[in-house]
Amino acid sequence: MKRIYCRITTENNGHMTQASPPSNDVQALPSGDSLQVEKIFRAGQLIMRQGEPGDCAYFIQEGRVQISVKLADGSLVNVAQRGAGSVIGEMAIVDGGPRSATITAIEDCQLLEITQADFSKAVSNANPIVGLVARLILMRYRDLLHRSATLRDFDGDSSVLERQEHEHAQQSRVLDAVRMTNEFRVAIAGNQLFLEYQPFIEISSGRVVGFEALMRWHHPVQGRMRPDLFIPLAEDTGQIVEATRWAFHEACHALKNMVDASGNDQLFMSINFSAHDFDEPDFLEHLLQIVDHAGVRPDQIHIEITERLLLRQAQHVRAALLQCREAGMDISIDDFGTGYSSLSYLHQYPVSTLKIDKSFINNMTRDDSALGLVRTILSLSDNLGLSVIAEGVETEEQVSMLRTLRCQVAQGFLYAKPLGLDRALELVAPKGGGSCAKL
Ligand code: C2E
Ligand code: CA
Ligand code: CA
Repeated sequence: MKRIYCRITTENNGHMTQASPPSNDVQALPSGDSLQVEKIFRAGQLIMRQGEPGDCAYFIQEGRVQISVKLADGSLVNVAQRGAGSVIGEMAIVDGGPRSATITAIEDCQLLEITQADFSKAVSNANPIVGLVARLILMRYRDLLHRSATLRDFDGDSSVLERQEHEHAQQSRVLDAVRMTNEFRVAIAGNQLFLEYQPFIEISSGRVVGFEALMRWHHPVQGRMRPDLFIPLAEDTGQIVEATRWAFHEACHALKNMVDASGNDQLFMSINFSAHDFDEPDFLEHLLQIVDHAGVRPDQIHIEITERLLLRQAQHVRAALLQCREAGMDISIDDFGTGYSSLSYLHQYPVSTLKIDKSFINNMTRDDSALGLVRTILSLSDNLGLSVIAEGVETEEQVSMLRTLRCQVAQGFLYAKPLGLDRALELVAPKGGGSCAKL
């Protein structure tokens, strides 16, 4: 198996290289073979030098460091020490400025890297006020450092601040987030992601009409990870864009296999999109290239977005969705009914399918208001000329109710759980009957 989880040590043939930038010490890794997650610095080694450009911060997992600042008169003062749980080198990645201090390992250190690229993505995805305030505080702090003539040698008591930083980091679970961000980058590059396909069923015939692609992560240590654990973080850090591109490519090629195996070129593939997927300037061009390359048609592709995403979104999302629609793709609203009261966006956006959220399907057989909502969504769709898919169908009773309400397409564990590609191909192959009756 390809090794993709590794540590980088700055040791060179067993000898420590002192006081030289770490980038010189780190052995170049065979490209495509390994991706870095952690770095080891030996006691006495330089971690970063004041004035030099910095493209990462570090989370100290183990060990202790000395932070020193060179003053205008050239003298070097020790301003603080930090240990496990602290972040160092954060200033350069917030504002892209030079390192404001020199940091040296006092003990052997194990550091977890936070790259500037990841940090910038996270800031640009955050509320703009967060980014603005972080930069502002930093500018003022740099200014203060610059003008301060009162810096004194470290007297051994930065412990209160260090403890506060440590507690804050623990409470915010930032370490888990940093670790998972690094690991997810490795996952995308290192074949740890895969897709499962859950069929959509025509209720009247039991025939498979299409599939939804659902992302899975096989973590090298933790095993299979649930998407609701890693997708929100990938969305926050902006990594979702790369993951969606990967998923879109994979799903289009899977669809081609399904069409070939079944002889049914009306099968469609539904792919989940997140808000930041629409930020890329070459968004549509890239999708169309993949569709074309896979040998499927745009009208076989459904772009799934949640109702909540649509309600929060800006003009450029609407423009991107319009372009997708004009190119022939279908726009599906996922988790429909869980958003807010205004339905006006159904006119503003080029929506073609509503997927009724599974909570309503689950409750409709015992709760009149859920049933009322399902009925309303179906008649609304009828009036607007939209298709409807009932999500999360688990019982025969739900199916017969949906049949009475004239809902045509369903998806849920009653028919099939998300399947690996092989099982999905078996399902649509003529000998599988192209139907879910057997599952
Ligand atoms: P979703 O898009 O609403 O997907 C449906 C989820 O409901 C899936 O969970 C599916 O396994 C589950 N499900 C399907 N039928 C039933 C049923 O009858 N009963 C119950 N209880 N559950 C059912 P999964 O695969 O764990 O995905 C969870 C969520 O993660 C998805 O919800 C979606 O929001 C997100 N997700 C998954 N893959 C992707 C992806 O490729 N991109 C993005 N952006 N989000 C994804
Ligand atoms: Ca979905
Ligand atoms: Ca859903």
